[in-house]
Amino acid sequence: MSRSPLSGFSSRAIHHGYDPRDNQGALTPPMHLASTFAFESAEQGGAIFAGEQPGYFYSRISNPTLDLLEQRIATLESAEAGVATASGMGAITAVMWTLLEAGDTIVTDKTLYGCTFAFFRHGLAKFGVKLVHVDLTNPAALEEVMTDDVKVVYFETPANPNMRLVDIAAISEVAQRHGASVIVDNTYATPALTRPIELGADIVVHSATKYLGGHGDLVGGLVAGSAEMMQRVRLEGLKDMTGAVMSPFTATLVMRGLKTLALRMERHSANAVEVAEWLEARPEVSAVHYPGLASFAQHDLAAKQMALPGGMIAFDLAGGYDQGIRFMNRLQMVLRAVSLGDAETLVQHPASMTHSTYTPEERAAHGIGEGLLRLSVGLEDLDDIFADLGQALAASELSIAA
Ligand SMILES: *Cc1c(COP(=O)(O)O)cnc(C)c1O
Repeated sequence: MSRSPLSGFSSRAIHHGYDPRDNQGALTPPMHLASTFAFESAEQGGAIFAGEQPGYFYSRISNPTLDLLEQRIATLESAEAGVATASGMGAITAVMWTLLEAGDTIVTDKTLYGCTFAFFRHGLAKFGVKLVHVDLTNPAALEEVMTDDVKVVYFETPANPNMRLVDIAAISEVAQRHGASVIVDNTYATPALTRPIELGADIVVHSATKYLGGHGDLVGGLVAGSAEMMQRVRLEGLKDMTGAVMSPFTATLVMRGLKTLALRMERHSANAVEVAEWLEARPEVSAVHYPGLASFAQHDLAAKQMALPGGMIAFDLAGGYDQGIRFMNRLQMVLRAVSLGDAETLVQHPASMTHSTYTPEERAAHGIGEGLLRLSVGLEDLDDIFADLGQALAASELSIAA
């Protein structure tokens, strides 16, 4: 049974692809834990196995609970199809193993999530894939490095951790004209704020661990793109190469998170706008990088490409690495933690944590300062966020304090 299609983003996040009448009226979709599925006959099993007939046979390939989540991420990203994976890195590796072969080149922006950087720089290099970094904030720079070997152009926007934005439409035009696929890590913005496929990208990848799940209680990943490409990612990258399949339990939690995604992103953004302006006025802070600030270098692109500026802020402390550590150690309500997109405000220091996989020289070359802090603004009351950040900033200036 199916109900009439819904146009609104939140309505689809809540209802898409599910009719309670199919399950005794159950409001919440059932969680199918089955690892394997029985066939009515050997012939039917053969037809499902051969892909000649729809149906399930083994949950590393497909599962009804994952199926529903995959349909939901597809509709929210304006894609034809989706694939669920065990983690964000599971999504990224499944896509890359599918698209690349030895001798190919990937072009990425200068800033990347630390483990993505490590996978591209060290992991894929072992299999003969070359990595080229370019400043993708400048589409003309991409034009210069495009050769026949470039199969993938990959970026995050906003980028982790320094909030650089990439113009998805402009980069997609250049990359696709040269025959490369464009892959966007949309973890920071989420489809509530930016839909890369509508702007011309080919594939979107997510760490569902972050805003999509939204409650810090799961690790998961999602991919969205054309039906043909998603079938390849499922059968090559996921089924045979990584095996990094999401559990049905996780899929249920991600679907619960998606129901409030738009609502949460509105509040994360509203809180972050206030926090960014407040940080900008603090004497201890030398720079604030946030798409919602008038001072943000790419403010116009943010307005064009993001419905709201989001919940992530990066800021620099003039006292560098040591002041970053002192600030972290003074926080009381705000939690010292990696990850992002949770109800709790989280802060981390990329130079000593997520981006310690870069050498200091690489960090400098990639625009990650030693005193840079990354703040995931949560859903708490602003007065409490200001009070905690304020006392920690004041204490961070005392070189003897810690
Ligand atoms: C966390 C993160 C990832 C990796 O996702 P996991 O779920 O931790 O594997 C990839 N990209 C970005 C931007 C992230 O923040």
